[in-house]
Amino acid sequence: MRKALITGITGQDGAYLAQFLLQQGYEVYGLLRRSASAEVIGERLRWLGVIDDLRLIDGDLSDLSSVLRIMSEVKPDEVYNLAAQSFVHASWQQPLLTGSITGLGAVNVLEAVRLVHPAARFYQASSSEMFGKIQESVQSERTPFYPRSPYAAAKMYAHWMTVNYRESFGLHASSGILFNHESPLRGIEFVTRKVTDGVARIKLGLARELKLGNLDATRDWGHARDYVRAMALMLRQETPDDYVIATGRTTSIRDFCAMAFGYAGLAWEEFVKTSSDLMRPAEVDVLHGDAGKAKAVLGWTPSCTLEEMVAEMVEADLARHRGRITQMLPIEARLTVGA
Ligand code: NDP
Ligand code: GDP
Repeated sequence: MRKALITGITGQDGAYLAQFLLQQGYEVYGLLRRSASAEVIGERLRWLGVIDDLRLIDGDLSDLSSVLRIMSEVKPDEVYNLAAQSFVHASWQQPLLTGSITGLGAVNVLEAVRLVHPAARFYQASSSEMFGKIQESVQSERTPFYPRSPYAAAKMYAHWMTVNYRESFGLHASSGILFNHESPLRGIEFVTRKVTDGVARIKLGLARELKLGNLDATRDWGHARDYVRAMALMLRQETPDDYVIATGRTTSIRDFCAMAFGYAGLAWEEFVKTSSDLMRPAEVDVLHGDAGKAKAVLGWTPSCTLEEMVAEMVEADLARHRGRITQMLPIEARLTVGA
């Protein structure tokens, strides 16, 4: 049975990747950082119904000794480094923490692989944010990077260290340059989930408006379930390499709002307000990926359309909020609505 170690297992991608690898017959281990709110930490893994099928081991990406200990305990065949301070907006407020986890944290994992278990195959979660102020209208593996945030700069460091460990030490280290990918398990602070959650609240009468920042930016959004499949495919190749993963379609935040509100039968213009507090010090205006190499070499293509993903996300948020409303009803009323 193949063994996989996932850092960031409690995040969106970690949860979907764990589910995917379990379905493939893997033994899955996850690095779990200690939290005083342990009961909410595994929420995504519980939502997917996989939490009891994994082994979670205490550690922290910024603590090399814990990463070394886990690597020697598990001796995984595959290591997926997904842990990060992943929110761009927060990276201006916490640039050092972002550098230390998103950047240096990756090197802790690379060092643990090199020192303890160099036969392991390593995946680094790189990001399309590295293209930042885009140097080509459609971005591929050949497009020069121009990071526009502390997050993107930290990801670039981790990306180049992955390339460097491959070239210096012969590690099977690959980097996936993933464009934005979303799902019902996306963090609520990211714009897609903030919008679908807002749609559900407004539809159910729990909110009257939704405050957003820049509506003009465009993103190439795919579904996380499709993107974790690409990660696993990269580690199955004989030769390690770097791949762009994207849908090839870019959509503005404004059009995303129109789709999500429209799905619920609402006109977005009536509810969306913009606030200068939500604008960023430097913006990434457009991201639009070319995943031609992933298609040719890995045989990877996305299976979920943006429309299907929006529908899944709005439905999930409606169900969550309906559940919360039901919980607040008196017991007799709950029985009538079948709770
Ligand atoms: P999430 O923010 O949902 O998950 C981040 C994970 O990292 C969580 O499990 C979090 O744990 C963990 N983590 C944070 N700090 C530490 C630490 N010090 N030690 C151990 N674990 C830590 O991110 P996603 O799942 O969306 O993304 C996965 C990776 O892919 C990230 O590296 C992200 O930057 C990158 N990426 C994501 C894209 C996207 O569109 N989703 C696009 C391109 C790249 P906890 O639950 O305890 O907070
Ligand atoms: P990012 O591409 O990793 O930064 O993903 P986000 O989902 O955080 O942001 C995507 C785009 O949406 C960026 O251009 C943001 O400026 C824009 N955006 C507009 N309003 C908001 C908002 O309220 N929250 C977030 N997170 N992004 C917003």
